[in-house]
Amino acid sequence: MSNVKFYREEHQVPLEMHKVRIVQKLFLLPVEERQKKMEEAGNNTFLLHNKDIYIDMLTDSGVNAMSDNQQAAMFQADDAYAGSETFYRLKKAIKETMGLNDMLPAHQGRACENILAEAFCRPGDLVPMNFHFTTTKAHITRCGADVVELVAAKGLDANNLDPFKGDFDIPRLKKFIKDHRDQIQWLRIETGTNLIGGQPISAHNMHEVAKICREEGIISVMDASLLQDNLHFIKTREEGYKDKSIKEIMFELCADMDIVYFSARKLGFARGGCICSNNEKLMLRMKEYVPLYEGFLTYGGMEVRSMEAIAVGLYETLDEEYISQGPMFIEHMVNELHEYGVPVVRPAGGLGVHLNASEFFPDMPHGQYPAGALGAAMYIAGGIRGMERGTISEQRERDGSERYAALELLRLAVPRRVFTLSQIEYVADRVKWVWDNRKLIGGLHFVEEPAVLRFFFGRLEPIGDWQQKLVEKYRADFGDSL
Ligand SMILES: *Cc1c(COP(=O)(O)O)cnc(C)c1O
Repeated sequence: MSNVKFYREEHQVPLEMHKVRIVQKLFLLPVEERQKKMEEAGNNTFLLHNKDIYIDMLTDSGVNAMSDNQQAAMFQADDAYAGSETFYRLKKAIKETMGLNDMLPAHQGRACENILAEAFCRPGDLVPMNFHFTTTKAHITRCGADVVELVAAKGLDANNLDPFKGDFDIPRLKKFIKDHRDQIQWLRIETGTNLIGGQPISAHNMHEVAKICREEGIISVMDASLLQDNLHFIKTREEGYKDKSIKEIMFELCADMDIVYFSARKLGFARGGCICSNNEKLMLRMKEYVPLYEGFLTYGGMEVRSMEAIAVGLYETLDEEYISQGPMFIEHMVNELHEYGVPVVRPAGGLGVHLNASEFFPDMPHGQYPAGALGAAMYIAGGIRGMERGTISEQRERDGSERYAALELLRLAVPRRVFTLSQIEYVADRVKWVWDNRKLIGGLHFVEEPAVLRFFFGRLEPIGDWQQKLVEKYRADFGDSL
C-alpha cells in the first residue's frame, strides 16, 4: 500500500503497489448447495473442499501470494541432501533481514515448536507467554509442561481500543516468575497474537519482557510467525518508531531475544519454518532434533524451492508497501463493519477480521459453540470460509470438562497479496446480512469429537433446523442470485 491520496477524499481506499499476473478461477455454488456442503463437512470449515469455496479466509498460512522474484528464485534451488547452496542463501537472508547468525530448518512452525518443547520442557514445567497458540500448546503439554498466559487484561476485551493488546501484563509476569522460578526454563513472546485477533505487542513491552528474562536467566523465545504485521503496527502506531525503517525495527526486536522461530507459511510468503539465534549453546541443545524429526540440517524437512522462496520473501518483509497490504485491507473491512454496528474486534489487527460471535448470539452458551455456528452461517451465506477461534479450538481439560474460550471469535483471515478490494467488499456485505439475520441462527453440537486438536477434524450438527431457515431467508432476500 502507498500513501497516494485520492482526489475525492470520500473515495479513499487502500491502494495496492503490486499487480496480479497469475489468476485462479473461483466458483460460487448456489445457497442450497452450500448448505449441503456444510452438512457434508460436519459443520467444520476445515472439512470443506476448496473447490466449493468462493472466498477462502480460513487462514493466512501457506496461502499468501508469491512475488515474481520469489518464483524466479525457486528455479535456482540447489537440490542436495547435505550442504545445499539454497540453505546458505536462506541463512544469509536471515542474517541480513533479522541480524541472526545461526538457523535450524524445520518443515513448518509447529515443527519448530516440537523441537523447542523437546529441548526445553521438563514434566511439570511452566511456559509463560502473552497468549497460547494451538500448536504451541499441544507440543508443550505433550512434553508434560503447561502453558501460562499473561496477556494484559486489555487483550481479552474485544472493545478495548488500545493499539497493543498483545502486551504482557508486566506486574503479573514478575509475580509469576517470583512464585514459580524453578519451573520456568523459557518464555515465549508471540508477536502478533493469533488467537486474540492478531493484536500486536509493542516493542516497548517486548524489551521489558526480554530484560526480565535476562535478569532471571530465563530463555526468551519469540514466535515471529506473525511478526510481519506486528512490524507494520509498531511503525505506524508506536511512539518513537515512525522514522525507523522496518529493517531497523526488525533488528532491534530480534537482537533482544535468545531464540526467534517462525512459520514461513506466514512470515516470508512461502512455506517452511526456521529457528534462529545468535546463541550457539542454545542451538546445540536443539540441533539433534532436526535430523531426528525433520531431515538433515541443511533442509530440515523443507523443499529446497520453498527455502529459496522464504529467502526472497524475508527481504520483501522489509518492504513497507508489501507488508501494509494485509493490515490495511483488514482495517478497511473492520471500519466498514463497525460503522454498520457489527461486533468486530477492534482496533483492526493483523492476519484477519475477527467477528465477535458472543455478541452475535448473546444468549447462546459456549457449549453450543457460537463461533462455530457463525462459521457455518458465513459459508452458507456467501461461500466464505472462516475459522472458528473459540471454544471448539480449545482442548478439553485433563478431567474431560470443557474449557470455555476467553473470546468466541470467527476469524476471516486475509491472506497477504491475494484478494481484491471488491472481494473484501463482498465479504463485508455478506457479514452484514448474517448480522441482520442473526436471530435465525442456532448452535451446534459434536457428533464426532477427537481428543487432540478437535477443531481440525471434529464433526458437528446444527441444533434444530436453523440452517434450512437461513437458506429460505437468503432466497427471499436475494431472489435467484448466487
Ligand atoms: C501458524 C502459527 C504457528 C504454527 O505454524 P505452522 O506453520 O502452521 O505449523 C505458530 N505460531 C503462530 C503464532 C502461528 O500463527
